[in-house]
Amino acid sequence: MNENTTAGASTAPAGSEMVFCRACGRQMHVSATACPGCGARQVPAGESERQILVAFLLCFFIGYLGAHRFYVGKIGTGLLMLITAGGLGIWWLIDLIMILAGSFRDIDGRALRRWP
Ligand SMILES: [Zn+2]
Repeated sequence: MNENTTAGASTAPAGSEMVFCRACGRQMHVSATACPGCGARQVPAGESERQILVAFLLCFFIGYLGAHRFYVGKIGTGLLMLITAGGLGIWWLIDLIMILAGSFRDIDGRALRRWP
């Protein structure tokens, strides 16, 4: 958007990326750690707000039910996992490794990187 010089002054610095607060909808810079309006903590782009620890525990204990996939919002593959008993354990094991490696992604395609 900022590559070409266009008529009309831009209020945002060149190359900046604006996002909207998840809590109040106020616009703020993508690098802001908290909303200047309501103070809500913001999740960095590309990182899931869901926690590895929760996904790991769900996967470890009831992963064959697809519980960790329901947790990250992947209802479809969660059900598939439930029906196939975790892909006969293979899919389950792969997901467990993915979660520990920080490569498991939520429904929005953002990787789970936060432990606590
Ligand atoms: Zn806010």
